[in-house]
Amino acid sequence: MKKMDKKVFDVVVVGGGPAGYPAAIRAAQNGLSVACIDEWKNRDGSSAFGGTCLNAGCIPSKALLESTELYYRAASEFKVHGIGISDLAIDIDTMQSRKKKIVKQLTGGIEALFKSNGVTPFKGHGRLLPENHVEVTSADGQISVLIAKNVIIATGSIPIELPIARFDNQLIVDSWGALEFDSVPKTLGVIGAGVIGLELGSVWQRLGARVVMLEALDEFLPMVDGQIAKEARRFFKRQGLDIRLGSKVSGAKINGDAVTVTYEDVNGSNSLEVDKLIVCVGRKPFTNELFAPGVNVALDDKGFVEVDEHCSTSLPQVWAVGDVVRGPMLAHKGTEEGVMVADLIAGKVGEVNYDAIPSVIYTAPEISWVGKTESEVKETGRPYKVGTFSFSANGRAKGMEQTEGLVKLITDKSDDELLGVHIVGAMAGELIAEAVLAIEFSASGEDLQRICHAHPTLTEAIHEAALAADGRAIHAINR
Ligand code: NAD
Repeated sequence: MKKMDKKVFDVVVVGGGPAGYPAAIRAAQNGLSVACIDEWKNRDGSSAFGGTCLNAGCIPSKALLESTELYYRAASEFKVHGIGISDLAIDIDTMQSRKKKIVKQLTGGIEALFKSNGVTPFKGHGRLLPENHVEVTSADGQISVLIAKNVIIATGSIPIELPIARFDNQLIVDSWGALEFDSVPKTLGVIGAGVIGLELGSVWQRLGARVVMLEALDEFLPMVDGQIAKEARRFFKRQGLDIRLGSKVSGAKINGDAVTVTYEDVNGSNSLEVDKLIVCVGRKPFTNELFAPGVNVALDDKGFVEVDEHCSTSLPQVWAVGDVVRGPMLAHKGTEEGVMVADLIAGKVGEVNYDAIPSVIYTAPEISWVGKTESEVKETGRPYKVGTFSFSANGRAKGMEQTEGLVKLITDKSDDELLGVHIVGAMAGELIAEAVLAIEFSASGEDLQRICHAHPTLTEAIHEAALAADGRAIHAINR
């Protein structure tokens, strides 16, 4: 072990994922001297910036979702367009290498951005020492100590492991492992019908796996508006996803090359044999070995770093952003927080509007939302209006042969403030941007009604849902 010289930086960012690396870039854009430390190791031993999102989450999963959706549509929907395919096949190696290439391009892109913005990268483990010193230990044991005027903690989150279903990374895997299968499992068990379960379950189901999802809760997607979740469940059922609600897993045992999963539901004890088991029951903040003795950053009872609305921690000049702090575990939420902190450190204005953060589940059809669900609005006691519009009456959706789903829009009954927009349907993840903009700009339902939407586009469904809230939809029977 060799000690190196101490270097001084205005900002040291610990964690180079979607919260940390944009923070580092923005801080550098603000004229500050910046270091960004990351210890990520890929399964082949290579290091990379980008965190879970780029290396093992959002980006690789979207690559596989795209490949498998194309395959699924070719197999089940092309016929209706008059397109016949005689021997449709998927080559998993090609699919996986395409995914790897995308990941490599994007993670390599971060290093290029660091270079052009003058951010100093450090690959290794970062640890906060007293008085805002940060120790970096590289893979070969070299230690550097950085003196930081400001520290931004952006260390992210890791999958929650169930004691009754420990990961062996072959048969019982986390979300990362589920992105790496080199063949299609015949049967795939998924514990947790949440965001990851649905996305990764869809990937392998589209390629022919029989997917059984065991979800402890009786309610499907409780964070999604009830009407939208109900519609989505119907679509997933039709696709063949076997989602078993109220199913509490009690054990998972590896027997040779299969896994026996036991679970309890209203009918008693059940068991299920699967080739692979994905455990995706949520993620927890990652702060292992992050604080040296004497660094007493306040954590909450779940291990999140406690922060105020500006992501300031209990220690002076120590900030924390992304999955390691409260709020939804969404890459873009972390990015906004990172950029806000980098601006605040530079003495600029910085703020995150937590009421205007979109959520997207990348199934087919996609689910997206921003603002409050109908039951959340109901709980506030505020009188409200609802407008819905089905994609089955949208010309573009018909042309795309993707008429499943609807847009649901909720506004205040008296002042017409836009309170929430919920979508299940093709490209819902793209469509929600209009609603986010509207909420950010405090638009009313009427504002959306008066905005011209291109025809024929899926966005017209948002326009029509806004009109429907006042009983004025053009292409629907208003009640
Ligand atoms: P999640 O919270 O979305 O879903 C986990 C599900 O597991 C819950 O429905 C929970 O009730 C269930 N569960 C917990 N313990 C169980 C048990 N013992 N048996 C059966 N079911 C059980 O968590 P996730 O899907 O693991 O995702 C983790 C985080 O990553 C989430 O915060 C998610 O928002 C985020 N993420 C977001 C995206 C996206 O934005 N598209 C994609 C992937 C992950």
